[in-house]
Amino acid sequence: MAVKKDYKDQKLAEKLRDRKYYIPDSNPEFIKDVEKIGQTAAHMCYQCGTCTGSCPSAPRSSYRIRLFMRKAILGLEEEALTDPDLWLCTTCYSCTDRCPRDLAPTDAIMAMRNLAFKRDIVPRNFLQTVQLIYKSGHGVPNNDANRAARKKLGLEEEPETTHKYPEYLPGIRKIIDHYKLKENADRILAEGE
Ligand code: SF4
Ligand code: SF4
Repeated sequence: MAVKKDYKDQKLAEKLRDRKYYIPDSNPEFIKDVEKIGQTAAHMCYQCGTCTGSCPSAPRSSYRIRLFMRKAILGLEEEALTDPDLWLCTTCYSCTDRCPRDLAPTDAIMAMRNLAFKRDIVPRNFLQTVQLIYKSGHGVPNNDANRAARKKLGLEEEPETTHKYPEYLPGIRKIIDHYKLKENADRILAEGE
């Protein structure tokens, strides 16, 4: 376990935080969860770095997909799931295309995001999208400006989707309710206000 000293001053405690890795800090179940949810043999990563070299987010941020693979293998669950960089992957799949071990680092990231969401760690825009889909069946619903533009183009104001056929909405809501997504999105958003 990381050595914790009582510095009283929180800022100083953070500055002098023990940065060494200890075996008890590792959760061996973490890599199993990542592999099960992501359906990829992440433990086969040998840290060649091709993924980070392919990543469009890496040159513009501190996000390093190779580090996340390493953290998954070492069971550093807390560190991986609480890292804000987890949400900088664009899911472009370049790393998955090029990994010499035939791994899908993208899907490992998706798995970690799933696990983070289960601990209420999730950006607000994902939760707002859940609310929009619950309400309208769309992540990006129609609006008055688009309705006017569609009319000008000779189209019907509403497309051939749940906007026009709202009778399909209860089915969508049933799926979302089954996973308690809306309930959790509402709760997390309310807590953050
Ligand atoms: S490209 Fe594949 S093997 Fe290489 S570091 Fe990334 S995940 Fe690991
Ligand atoms: S899928 Fe994500 S991690 Fe992989 S290269 Fe694209 S942005 Fe980077």
